[in-house]
Amino acid sequence: MMTIIFNSEFYDSDYADNPAADPGRMEVIIQELPTDKFHYKRAMPAEISQIELIHTKDYIKSVISDEKVSTIALLSAGAAIKAAEEAWSGNCSMSINRPPGHHAYKSSAWGYCYFSNMAIAITHLINTRQLKSAFILDFDAHTGDGTIDCLKDNKAIKILNPMGHDREEYLKIVENYLKELKDIDIVGVCAGFDSYEKDVGGKLKTFDFYAIGRMLRLYAEKNCKGKRFAVLEGGYYLPDLGKNVLAFCEGFGDE
Ligand SMILES: [Zn+2]
Repeated sequence: MMTIIFNSEFYDSDYADNPAADPGRMEVIIQELPTDKFHYKRAMPAEISQIELIHTKDYIKSVISDEKVSTIALLSAGAAIKAAEEAWSGNCSMSINRPPGHHAYKSSAWGYCYFSNMAIAITHLINTRQLKSAFILDFDAHTGDGTIDCLKDNKAIKILNPMGHDREEYLKIVENYLKELKDIDIVGVCAGFDSYEKDVGGKLKTFDFYAIGRMLRLYAEKNCKGKRFAVLEGGYYLPDLGKNVLAFCEGFGDE
């Protein structure tokens, strides 16, 4: 059973005025992930020392000076850390969290992000567990430029932001990349559902999120003892967001 990392504080839509903070956005996802099919664990806030693994002190200070943003951004990073820890202990997991993180640089941010949730989670894991390398697939419609900035000094972390003109080409890029990818200890996913055909990315169908999840599951089972986790990034077409997250989880989670 796949583990979902969540905290009802993520329902808070007051912390910012942007599409990631939209009211109802978390609700449409959680209602598609029922407790009889998914094992829920509660997200806890990250420690400042964990944020400091990636971000500069001055930048952290500026983010946490806003109390509302501070509370939810620390919780969001903490959710990603928890998802990574679960994955390392053998439970495939996904954090349903916001704000997203993949546009957060070491000392600046944009695109509704504050802290680089994925970079913090992976770096925390590398520093505290017996692993060296990681693969990050970012299937958000937008390139995870922040994740790249935060992790660029670690050559053992490979990051793929697939592009591609259409969905067939997109899936092929992922498939071909995985064929060549060796010596990976864990798979992390920046799961952005704005690449959906009715969202800003205008490309992938619901089934494609299942297909991507499945490719990653098979890769992880074969190459890194099944260790894999995902963190939520974008995804703004609320009528279908929940079913797209579910489709991904059905491919990504244990059969
Ligand atoms: Zn995006």
